[in-house]
Amino acid sequence: MKGKSVYVAGHRGMVGAALVRRLAREDVRLVTTTRSELDLRDQAAVFSWFAKARPQVVFLAAAKVGGIVANNTLRAEFIYDNIAIAINVIQAAHQNGAAKLMFLGSSCIYPKLAPQPLREDSMLTGPLEPTNEPYAIAKIAGIKMVEAYRAQYGSDFISVMPTNLYGPGDNYHLEYSHVVAALIRRFHEAKIAGAKSVVVWGTGTPRREFLYVDDMADACVHLMKTYTGAELINIGNGEDITIAEFARVVAEVIGYRGEITFDTSRPDGTPRKVLDVNRLARLGWRATTSLRDGLRRTYEDYTRGV
Ligand code: GDP
Repeated sequence: MKGKSVYVAGHRGMVGAALVRRLAREDVRLVTTTRSELDLRDQAAVFSWFAKARPQVVFLAAAKVGGIVANNTLRAEFIYDNIAIAINVIQAAHQNGAAKLMFLGSSCIYPKLAPQPLREDSMLTGPLEPTNEPYAIAKIAGIKMVEAYRAQYGSDFISVMPTNLYGPGDNYHLEYSHVVAALIRRFHEAKIAGAKSVVVWGTGTPRREFLYVDDMADACVHLMKTYTGAELINIGNGEDITIAEFARVVAEVIGYRGEITFDTSRPDGTPRKVLDVNRLARLGWRATTSLRDGLRRTYEDYTRGV
């Protein structure tokens, strides 16, 4: 990457912004575009922008994302936007001679009932979790494009699969956010209002792994510099926690002391999602931010914004 032009697609998103923070420590020429300058779903616009800008390295961190309800409700937008972004950016990078591209996938590409921890080779071995199938199919399309461009053109394009991410710049929408942002907001508002009870969706029994977004950005930069292989790489810390336990940790970090109740009319989603991170460990990277530290930093960022 040294001295090269590096395009972060999606730099206003939580992951893209973390990549920009991390790349500030590298000797690179950073290139970004806002959505009003370049709509990544617009193929003609993407092709013409790439032909002019010709970035040498591309982090494809742009995506339409959201929590379980957003994925399940905006099903058409999740599949259309994410396939469009993938096909446009990957093809444009290829056409304009990008030396390297990293495609960001998601742990939801693995089958709902695949053995846990989830290994990279379990992709496409069984049916997906129905609530986020459109998003997962779009991400699998991107992964398969990366594989195909490597096979046919010899492109040094790689794919990484992050676990559930959280951190500064998350989306705190009441319905459409992911669980971390949702609970930070709900416990904070309950604390301020002196409420005695906070509702958590589902049964509290699903297990999830949570990675702080600055750890994710650090892993991406490490792999961009050192990894040139064809295999997918999971990015996580390999540790999971039930939603009920997680809710108690969030309550503690925020200082909410009331009751926690569960709304079982809300979906649980997949029963367990924790990544096998052995491949990543062999490539010399591991997470360093504890859940409590990550939540403290995220909560500080949240209270600055409210
Ligand atoms: P998922 O990992 O794709 O299911 O994404 P989410 O972050 O949306 O949900 C993770 C888990 O947290 C699921 O089991 C949800 O039912 C549970 N959960 C509990 N409370 C909430 C909430 O307020 N919002 C969201 N999005 N999920 C919640």
